[in-house]
Amino acid sequence: MHRPIKYVEKGLSIAANGAWVVFNGLNKINQRPSFIPKWSDKPLLKSYEKTKPPLGWPRETDSLCPTCTREARQAILDGKKDVNDLLHEKVGEIKATILERDGKILMVKDCPIHGHFEDVMAIDTAFFKHLEEVFPGRDIRAHNDEKLHNHGSSTIQHGRGSVLTVDLTNRCNMMCDPCFMDANQVGFVHELSWEDIKMVLDNAISIKPRRQMSVQFSGGEPTISPHFLDAVRYARKVGYNSVQAATNGIEFAKDPEFAKAAAEAGLRYAYLQFDGIGNAANAHRRVGNLFDVKLRAIENLYSNGVDIVPVVTIVNGVNNEQVGRIIEFALDNPKKINFLSFQPVSFTGRDEEVTPERRAAQRYTLSHLAHDVKNQTGLGEPTRDWFPISFMGSFTDWADVTHGAEKEFGQLTCGCHPNCGVGMAVMIDKETKEAVPVTAFLKAEQLAKDVAAVSDAGRGRFLSVTGMALSLMRNYDSFKSPKEFKLVDLLRKFDKTFGGTRSAEKGKYGSVEGTRTRSDIDKRRSDRWNFLFIAGMWFQDLFNYDFRRTEMCIIPYATQQGEISFCAYNTGIGWRNII
Ligand code: SF4
Repeated sequence: MHRPIKYVEKGLSIAANGAWVVFNGLNKINQRPSFIPKWSDKPLLKSYEKTKPPLGWPRETDSLCPTCTREARQAILDGKKDVNDLLHEKVGEIKATILERDGKILMVKDCPIHGHFEDVMAIDTAFFKHLEEVFPGRDIRAHNDEKLHNHGSSTIQHGRGSVLTVDLTNRCNMMCDPCFMDANQVGFVHELSWEDIKMVLDNAISIKPRRQMSVQFSGGEPTISPHFLDAVRYARKVGYNSVQAATNGIEFAKDPEFAKAAAEAGLRYAYLQFDGIGNAANAHRRVGNLFDVKLRAIENLYSNGVDIVPVVTIVNGVNNEQVGRIIEFALDNPKKINFLSFQPVSFTGRDEEVTPERRAAQRYTLSHLAHDVKNQTGLGEPTRDWFPISFMGSFTDWADVTHGAEKEFGQLTCGCHPNCGVGMAVMIDKETKEAVPVTAFLKAEQLAKDVAAVSDAGRGRFLSVTGMALSLMRNYDSFKSPKEFKLVDLLRKFDKTFGGTRSAEKGKYGSVEGTRTRSDIDKRRSDRWNFLFIAGMWFQDLFNYDFRRTEMCIIPYATQQGEISFCAYNTGIGWRNII
């Protein structure tokens, strides 16, 4: 037996289904053309105007020969090859085929000089297919970006990105081994000056479409840069609402006053390096009580209003058994953690020399992640509850239409390739800790189609919000949602996340804009329901590199030489070393 309200809501869903048929029929009449918002020089895209890279299999793509690429990089570093060749030549490039064999998806490629390479892209073909099938398409072409996006075949071409990464320093307060960014080991210090930091942030808002994005200060350990707090403050000042630090947490654990100062400067998220639960799982970093340090950092940050995102690199057979324990840690702390980021290993830096045997044993794909989560926690059906991160684009497109032409920034949108990133949303009752994947009680694929139909009509706010509400109601199954969850909670959650109604946009649920106060933070946190997002971002390496992914990258690295795809910067030809 369900609670009586659940039966009422079931009836409402059926009624909404009928109302939707009428609404959708009328909405097809006299649809409005797309407008050009202030934040773009090109019109918003209708869902049917969006382009997609070639998907499905077998398919051919442009990749790299691991050996040619390493040799070319070394030749540039030794001054034997001109760096400008990268702008005009396809350095190290070979064709690759993505195909199915023995129930797995593989990338296979042959270099005329160095022979055959192959690697696993997925261990579950249905999962891989599902991700590609629900991909909604690329974002608006990047424009006004000629000076900042100019990296030959590595150039980012679509959208604005969603996480702008700025390495403040390569110095670190730890001695991990290996860590190829650390000045303690590479023997030189690379640190941005205050003028450099201002320049990359000023440049960042010149690219169109100008979208909200997360600005992530990284390193090394960014908190030991003398400019850390000023950089956070400046990123907020130029207009970015979500400023983050990718940190090991030590400085925040040591000093609550530092956590407070960072929060006051505008730090919104700490991307906290997290290897597992307990000190033993962190021992390889050579700090005996590192897990205790993490807990202290979480406490100091959270109490000052900064949200925490544990970030975990996963290596198959090394720490993938930690996946379930880390998710359980988040489920046990629903007030403090609403985002988890898993990053399957990418064989970069010294690991580029990995033997084929070790690579085969340690390769971990997004499909491994979905299966480990299910097997270790019982949460989530791989093809029902996991979606490409870009799936959210249907909802952010709707918000862009609803907010109208006068908005200064477009919505943050993750238009990355479906092979790049995935996520599962879990609704958690902060009081009882009951946790249910959102897509267990919300028909996400139909919802996305409905919402795209609403956006394509290009109506004003009232009809757009009405259409969204009807599609949420008709796709909601009250019998499968958490026990205390109500339909109105679902409507509020979407309104809070996307600012659909005018009052939500003005901060009804707590503002997220640069002017936000402590009371805004507390208001947003007062919600009974935690929408935990479990994400997987699979950075590429030379063995699975795909230029169709790089050209729609959502994680641009801000450098003195423009904004470069994270994968092209850290792997690929490796602009990090070259710059
Ligand atoms: S960083 Fe790499 S994996 Fe992530 S979106 Fe960019 S290209 Fe894809």
